[in-house]
Amino acid sequence: STVFEKSKVLTPDYIPKNLPHREKQIKELSINFREILSNPGSTSVRVVISGKTGTGKTVTTKKFGELFSEIAKEKGLRVVYTHINCHRQRTLYLMLVEIANQLNLQIPNRGLSSQETFKLIYDYLEKRNIQLIITLDEFDYFVSTSPIEDIYFLVRIYDELNALVKRIHYIFILRELTSLASLDKSIKDHVIKNVIEFPPYTSEELYDILMDRIVNEKAFREGAVLEETVRFISDIYGFDKGGSGNARLALETLELAGKIADTEGSLLVTIDHAKKANSKINPELSIILDTIRDLDLHQLLVVKAIMNLHKKEGDDFFSMGKVEEEYNIVAKDLGEIPRKHTQVFEYIRKLKLMGLITARQSGKGMRGRTTLISLSVPISEELDNLINNEIRDRLL
Ligand code: ADP
Repeated sequence: STVFEKSKVLTPDYIPKNLPHREKQIKELSINFREILSNPGSTSVRVVISGKTGTGKTVTTKKFGELFSEIAKEKGLRVVYTHINCHRQRTLYLMLVEIANQLNLQIPNRGLSSQETFKLIYDYLEKRNIQLIITLDEFDYFVSTSPIEDIYFLVRIYDELNALVKRIHYIFILRELTSLASLDKSIKDHVIKNVIEFPPYTSEELYDILMDRIVNEKAFREGAVLEETVRFISDIYGFDKGGSGNARLALETLELAGKIADTEGSLLVTIDHAKKANSKINPELSIILDTIRDLDLHQLLVVKAIMNLHKKEGDDFFSMGKVEEEYNIVAKDLGEIPRKHTQVFEYIRKLKLMGLITARQSGKGMRGRTTLISLSVPISEELDNLINNEIRDRLL
């Protein structure tokens, strides 16, 4: 027997019917976008969403997209919502290809520049009279890794297209507004018009979110989860109780507690199960697992090199030179041509931006000052397996 009823409603990609405590943000989004309905083509809307991990930025914008396209349809207008993850679509060109995919627009698979691709998309919208909302999730990442021309192109699209009718609108999702600091003022002014904040959840708010999945979405059999268990999990993660305010971790803990109850043959999910779940969930790790799945082969090989060094030498921090040496070995062992020095440095810089690698300056005892790097997460068997599996997948 099992404590679960519809366990799929606990998975990270599931979009629940209700989003408790995000009604205000959805309303603000609607207000920002209402011009599209009342006066389509007159403006290009830009909204910035900012908040820490697990504060519901992704799920809320997707829900808004769903609701808003429905409302538009009732008014006889076509609004299409597209959601792009900038970790996954790492370049302007890949982003555009993904947007075309989500529009079911076939584009020739070679030879087109980003500009030409964008023009194809725009013409497609024009022909079908579509208003397009593009959400750029993890936009911080795009900003810190892309050439300035690409950011500029994206943001100033109408100057490029010279289009009379405005059909493209943006939601930029950022972890921190300060990540835009490096952009010059003209771009910043284009991006930051309206900012909607997503504060970390309090214990009460997490309680409502968890209860909604349990009671309304029927994740568990009726009565299987004790009220005090939900209270316990909310208190661990509640921002007002010193937690991170991260709903993803709260939901993961609840799900794992249920699985533990199942393996113990218990019909109830108790505080004890939640405690066990909590000690298993390493908050840093679970955020980072998602990131790892988005890495490309040679980035993974750099991570593997650091793990190898850790195993061989027992240390945590290694010089860049040493990591590069080990990376060369790892690559050759797999029959891959190692990337050049500058490219390896670039990988390390990106891994740092993603939070997978921590860097510090060497102290005394080493000649000069060198940058030492380490993985930001504990090196475990689980991590080891994950990295090896991901590498294998990329080599197939
Ligand atoms: P972010 O994009 O800010 O990192 P997500 O939107 O990915 O956060 O949310 C993390 C998890 O928590 C997802 O499973 C999401 O469904 C859930 N979640 C976040 N906020 C809410 C909410 N207000 N109501 C219900 N579920 C939520």
